[in-house]
Amino acid sequence: MLQTTLTCAKCGSTALRKNGHSHGHAKYLCTSCRHQAVFQPAAPRKAAQYAQVEKLLLERVSQRAIVRLTGVARMTVAKLAKKSADPSEQ
Ligand SMILES: [Zn+2]
Repeated sequence: MLQTTLTCAKCGSTALRKNGHSHGHAKYLCTSCRHQAVFQPAAPRKAAQYAQVEKLLLERVSQRAIVRLTGVARMTVAKLAKKSADPSEQ
């Protein structure tokens, strides 16, 4: 199973520990660079990624190239491509 690991936005390190809460979200502290942040939940991040995928589909970039650029799974890209090609199916 693929596990999503949190990485530090500043140094990319995975050495994080929980450091309290802010606005109902867990705050994390990077133990290597001392950067502290609230990590975004997956939903808004995915929405931004999918918007980028749809933009690239309009530019007629190949699905495999989109996978490489955005990190979105190819089946998800295919699903979004189908959706943007036929808007009546939404
Ligand atoms: Zn860091």
